[in-house]
This record gives sequence, structure tokens and C-alpha cells, in this order.
Amino acid sequence: MFPLVDLQTTPALLKLDLYCRGMRIDESCLIADDGGRRILRTRAGLGSGLEIILPGGLWTNVPVTEAFAKASPYALRRQQGAYRLMRDDEFVTTVELSPRPAWYDATTSHGKPMTRVGTLQGTYLAIYPAKVCDYWIETPDKVNCKFCSVGLNLGVDDDAVKSVDDVMEVVHAARAESHITYVDFNTGHYHGDTYLDILEPYITRIKNETGLLIGVQTPPHPDLSRYDRLREMGVNRVSFCFEIYDRERFREVCPGKHTHYGQDRYLDAIRYCASLADRGPAHEPWVTNGEIIAGLESPESSMRAIDWVTSVGAIPTVCVFRPLAGTDYAAMPPPAPEPLVPVFARLYEACMERGLPIGCAPNIHVSLVLLPEECAGLSARQYPWQQLKLAAIRSGLGWYLNRRFARADRRPLP
Ligand code: SF4
Repeated sequence: MFPLVDLQTTPALLKLDLYCRGMRIDESCLIADDGGRRILRTRAGLGSGLEIILPGGLWTNVPVTEAFAKASPYALRRQQGAYRLMRDDEFVTTVELSPRPAWYDATTSHGKPMTRVGTLQGTYLAIYPAKVCDYWIETPDKVNCKFCSVGLNLGVDDDAVKSVDDVMEVVHAARAESHITYVDFNTGHYHGDTYLDILEPYITRIKNETGLLIGVQTPPHPDLSRYDRLREMGVNRVSFCFEIYDRERFREVCPGKHTHYGQDRYLDAIRYCASLADRGPAHEPWVTNGEIIAGLESPESSMRAIDWVTSVGAIPTVCVFRPLAGTDYAAMPPPAPEPLVPVFARLYEACMERGLPIGCAPNIHVSLVLLPEECAGLSARQYPWQQLKLAAIRSGLGWYLNRRFARADRRPLP
């Protein structure tokens, strides 16, 4: 167990520890009455927990429903209206509930509950717009990724089909009430590689009507020129989840991805997309992410993945493995947090050493992962010049984008 004082002085360590150990919710808590968010199983599953804000402004999603969370040393208690995080009988810190916006209780004009169209993960809007990933319905045997819960979520908390009009209503509501700056789309695998065709109509409408930042997380399309087109359309982030760097483990954990794409297709797409950063349009920022799951391979292999991703100019996204209820890996234990500390320290260091633009976009707090910039407290290294450069980019980009969004907000809604 980490010393209490370390958890109290390093919010990133607390965020990591909570991902790995989960948390119990004491009967004293009044999450809904106090304006907190309902627990929703959406997307590949990491959003299955309670959304809270830790000291230092670190938004997080803490596992609470899985079996390991029920045995956690952490418990959330409400005392005189404040939420206190306890570890066994020791007080750790006070936390805030991530606010539930009014649109969470609204429906679209077609009568669809808005949370079945999109949900906030931290401060951005996340949408899984299409039918279930084909790996979940492959015959004779499913070949879904073993950690994934997409096939269990759609139709439960998440609608399987979302029209562009429904999505636009939710985007406008989330912009007006939650002041989102970023919309993230996520799809699984579809035979015929149709995932980008499915997303493009949503992207065009959102860009035209709001100017918001948009991200796309799909399998790697075989025609890499499709990413040039996304860049031209104003997409700001592309993300490729290769999950596991160790090739043997990749084959075991992600059988469908291994058979249909192979790890090299993911790596080639990351390399190619990172090379598009210097292309226009100049007013649209562009980042490429390579996403992995820490805890399903050795920490050394995760660090090799981080070094590879940053070496091509992309930014790693590092999730912490969560054994989600109902998935193939539900009975596995969550990873121990201690061996993951060097992984997240390396995440920060590798991004800083390569001069990558981390933490620059305005008002994007991510609850599902530890962001590279959040991990600074886990590293002993200092990067004063790079920090200055990032502060300058952050301020210039924030100024420009906030003006752009404000201009779009003043336009009459369609
Ligand atoms: S590709 Fe894998 S992780 Fe993504 S939705 Fe399909 S089964 Fe889940």
C-alpha cells in the first residue's frame, strides 16, 4: 500500500491507486440527490464507475461495481454534505462529485434519453454511434477483445443506433450546459471497413454547427489516405487501440484484431497519422494517439510501447486494466498499482523528451485514463523549457478555440 502522505500529496498516485483498487460507496452517500452522475456502462467499459474529481482537478472514473471494488480498502463517505475518501479508517482526502448536467435527464425530440446517445467522460462528450462491434457477433465463435464489454452495454445504457439528428441535439445540449470543447467518437470493427464512412456525416455536422474539437477512435483503415481526408475535414484527434505491445499477448487478448488487422496495421496507421501533424488546415490542431492497456502485459512491455509511440510523434493513451463484470476477464484480479508507477512516470517523461503537445486543448479533463501531463508528479525529472513551451501553446490555443466556440454558440441553433 502507498503511504497515505504520498496519496495526499500526489493526486496522480491516488488516481492510479483507485483505478487498481476500486472503491466502496457508503450508505451515507446521496450521489443522485447531491447532483452526481449515474453509473453508466458505455463504450468498451471503462466508464463503468463513479465519476468524481480528485484534488488537483483530476477527474476520474472509479470502479465501484466490479467484485474487486467491493473488497476495496477505499470507501466514499458523506459527512455534513462533503464527500470524504477513506482508506480503511484513515481519512485520505475530500473529493467532489462530477456534476450531472440537466441534459442527463432530458430526451431528444425523437424521445430518446440523451444519455443513451452520448455521455460525459470527465468533461468531454463520448459517443459510440453505431451497432455493436462485429467481433461480438462473429460465428461460430465470438472473437471480441477479452477485456471489452461493448457487446454487453449496447441496448442497456447505450442505444445501438444513433441518428445524426439525435447526436446533434445532444452535442448542442452538452455544449450549452456542460461547455464541452471536445466530442469523441468510438467504434468497433465492422466488416467492410465501414467505420469511417459511418462517422463522417456526424463529423461534418458537428464541425459546421459548432466548430468543436473532434476525435475518432476506430480500427486502422486500410486506405491511409482516408486520414488525409479526416485531417482536411477538421478532425483533431485519431486514436488507435492496439492495446498490447507484446505480440504474443496481443494475439491472446485481441483475437479479432489479430486476425483482421494484425498489430502492424495499427502501428503503421499511428506512424502515418502522426506524420500528418504539419499538414493543414493550420487552424485545426491534430494529434495521434496509440492506446494501450497497462496490466495485461509486463510493465516493461508497456514502457516499450510508450517509447515506440512517442518515437513516431504520437501520444500514448494508457488505460489501466479493469476486470469488468460479465467480460471474459471478469474473474481476473486488477493489476497491482505499484509496478505501474514507472509506466506512468515514463508516459510523462517520454512525451516531454519528444516535445509532444500534451495538455494543450482547453477544458479537456479525462476520467478514464491518467493523462501524460497528470503524471508529472510521478516522475523525478523536470522539464522547465518544455513546460514553458507547453504553457505558451496552451494559452494561444485556448484563446483561439474559445473565441471560435463562442462565435459558433452565438449562431442560432438549427
Ligand atoms: S474491437 Fe475489441 S475493444 Fe473494440 S469494440 Fe470490438 S471487441 Fe471491443
